[in-house]
Amino acid sequence: MTVGRDQYRKEIQSVSDSRQRTLYRGSRLLVLIFLLILGLGTSGMLMACSDASDTTSGATGNPLPGPATDEGAEAAPVEDGDSEEAAVPESTASEQSTGSLLQQIPVYEAADPASVEADELGQIMVLMYHHIREPEAEWSRTPENFRKDLEVLYEQGFRPIRLIDYARGQIHVPAGKTPVVFTFDDGNDNNFNMIEDETGEWIIDPDCAVGILMAFHEAHPDFRPHATFFINGGTPFGQSDWVDFKLNYLVTNGMDIGNHTETHLHLGDASAEQLQQELGRIQQLVNRYVDDYQVNTFALPFGSRPSSDEVAPYVESGTYQEVTYVNEAVLEVGWDPYHSPFNRDFNPLKIRRVRASETKVDGVGMYDWLATFESGSRRRFISDGDPNTIAIPDSRAELLREDLEGYEILLYEAAP
Ligand SMILES: [Zn+2]
Repeated sequence: MTVGRDQYRKEIQSVSDSRQRTLYRGSRLLVLIFLLILGLGTSGMLMACSDASDTTSGATGNPLPGPATDEGAEAAPVEDGDSEEAAVPESTASEQSTGSLLQQIPVYEAADPASVEADELGQIMVLMYHHIREPEAEWSRTPENFRKDLEVLYEQGFRPIRLIDYARGQIHVPAGKTPVVFTFDDGNDNNFNMIEDETGEWIIDPDCAVGILMAFHEAHPDFRPHATFFINGGTPFGQSDWVDFKLNYLVTNGMDIGNHTETHLHLGDASAEQLQQELGRIQQLVNRYVDDYQVNTFALPFGSRPSSDEVAPYVESGTYQEVTYVNEAVLEVGWDPYHSPFNRDFNPLKIRRVRASETKVDGVGMYDWLATFESGSRRRFISDGDPNTIAIPDSRAELLREDLEGYEILLYEAAP
């Protein structure tokens, strides 16, 4: 389907209605996926994000909330990873709307841990993208290369999960698969761009990040289009007429909006007041368009933290003009895959990311880590398909954090 200008308001209303149904009545609705047709990519904004690296590590000991599912969302039964859409009941035409299936939490069939060599203490890549545009550069991935990334990850058994689910230790991927997290910084127009096709219909640019993710999901239904878009103030993704549609579309299709501060502030010298304003205003901006949406993830601009110990706590939570924000995941720039949420060193407020690029990555880009996983010198998270269990080879038990509650620990004897 395409989105015409006249349909715009109707789409928004439909999206809003479907959110209500999904959250409060748990209706299962069919996905209407945008059929993307050919269009030209656009040149991106010139703002580059020259983030600095921060390799700090350490645990805070924050307890995980346990394996419970998201509040109000209903699990969608899934027999296996390849038949997700077939497992969802049909809905009536009047109930059809975009994306609500993608807001539901999938349920996969659990496998014997040894049979899939499960290792739920293995590491997880949080991939960091900025621009999706020509030409390939340090902070730009071309549409063609982004599609290649998705194809390679899919073929190697990676499946996207939401960042917030990673932070909360709620890992929903099929047995034998590895979770991966997609992130995009700066709210660039080439992350989510609308274009007019030759018939005058407005469609999602098939060469923007959202267009590519949705098209890949359509071709591979078990590769859910989860990603977090870290926005700044002003007009996220450009195109002021479309901000309302875009933010609602993201949320309705299983994607998330993250905080990147109003002005892409370098936090080093920020005051507590300034930091709370920068973060609170993004929460305010999002709620002007998406009711009740809590922005609960934060990517540090330039990877920098406040230098003052008095200001540092406001990275996690604060209040601005009666708007309270709580960041459950704080992302650094980083350079490597990060811990399993069940690892004793996991700290959701210091998550490191992997640069999803092949330019100036200094041997620590996504493809380098894929090779490292393949070599066995680092272990990747492999799920047993059940988010309520933590399945690990018995030799790894000492790495478990001690404050886990509500999980069943499955130790198994791994082949030497
Ligand atoms: Zn940035």
